[in-house]
Amino acid sequence: MKAKLGTLLVVSGPSGSGKTTLCRRASDAGLCVYSISCTTRQPRPGEVNGVDYHFLSMDEFKAKAAAGEFLEYAEVHGNCYGTLKADIIELLEQGKTVVMDIDVQGADSVRACQEPVLLKAYADLYIHVPQEELKNRLCGRQTDSEEVIALRLKNAAAEDACLPRYTYCLVSSDREADYAAFTALLKTLSMRVSLL
Ligand code: 5GP
Repeated sequence: MKAKLGTLLVVSGPSGSGKTTLCRRASDAGLCVYSISCTTRQPRPGEVNGVDYHFLSMDEFKAKAAAGEFLEYAEVHGNCYGTLKADIIELLEQGKTVVMDIDVQGADSVRACQEPVLLKAYADLYIHVPQEELKNRLCGRQTDSEEVIALRLKNAAAEDACLPRYTYCLVSSDREADYAAFTALLKTLSMRVSLL
């Protein structure tokens, strides 16, 4: 039998939806590989270069974009974010389940990508959080300024409008219920028949 192709699960949802935590937890449990993005934003306290993100200067980011190294990149909340194409393709060819925690614009770009491996491996999930609950979460994590929180809430409504483009939707409730639903999806996707 031919080698099995991995799965690429794109996970989007507003900031505060818990998507990063879900992806990280499943990755730490060995259920998937977390795709580490490049970004021009400043590290938050506790974030580590090469683990949470590859933190780049704007010049470094632009050089990678010009060299065609990104599978997708987008400006989100005033900073640039992008995923390195070679990393993703290599993992998929090794049969891995890769989760990409990216915004709705990034998801559009990955869907439009005609690379055969990506077309076969692709799946996507949107995490929806009711507006009032989202506000509580963003205020509670105390990592962003009031201006940043206001901008993220405004963007959340626009992001929610993109939900119909996704195959799967997780309506966020509590942490454990979300994780159970997320890992069930990863398990289901790992049973797909897609060969290299
Ligand atoms: P944060 O700054 O809170 O870590 O992330 C802000 C937003 O950028 C989130 O919606 C996150 O999903 C998105 N993001 C993170 N990495 C990437 C990426 O590589 N590409 C795109 N398009 N969005 C990303």
